[in-house]
Amino acid sequence: MRFETCVGKGKLVLVKGDITAEAVDAIVNSANPELTPGGGVSGAIHRRGGPRVTEEAARIRRERGRLKTGEAVITTGGDLPAKWVIHTVGPVWHGGEKGEPELLAKAYRSCLELARERGLRTIAFPSISTGVYGYPVERAAEVALRAVKAFLEGEPEPVEEVRFVLFFDADFTAYREAWNRIAGGD
Ligand code: ADP
Repeated sequence: MRFETCVGKGKLVLVKGDITAEAVDAIVNSANPELTPGGGVSGAIHRRGGPRVTEEAARIRRERGRLKTGEAVITTGGDLPAKWVIHTVGPVWHGGEKGEPELLAKAYRSCLELARERGLRTIAFPSISTGVYGYPVERAAEVALRAVKAFLEGEPEPVEEVRFVLFFDADFTAYREAWNRIAGGD
């Protein structure tokens, strides 16, 4: 399952897969505010990235405190095929009236800005907040893709490729359909 299209000066790719296997400049971790391994995609990234990822994340946590929702920090990729891991915290879903869409968009933007600042060319995202944090995937997909589209279209020199690595068939389908709605006009 794969879809790809040009957006602004960049490329958007949707694939089904395991983000820990992606050989990109940076993969994004849907982290918790403490930057501890936890479960889900974060547990998988820390496991495969090894102690260098976990130790660097712990050092950042000691130096700057808990990460706020929507913020992002970067560590080495350790033993991962990706060079870097960008850790961000998505919002917990509380029904949609607690600023969830804005916070989710901010998380994507923070990661993209960090990647651009570092001169990274390829970045891969999981579906932030749609696991344990409970954000409905159809809604999250629309927010995520709109944020990425705005970034790719709005920046004179954005990253070259933004890839979404979706773990389940249903997530891939949700993102694919959300893109159809967005690209087909607002
Ligand atoms: P959150 O706290 O953001 O909800 P989760 O890790 O529970 O974080 O889930 C986020 C998304 O990541 C879910 O859609 C989940 O299916 C997906 N996921 C879990 N493991 C992986 C993986 N190895 N690669 C890509 N996506 C994954």
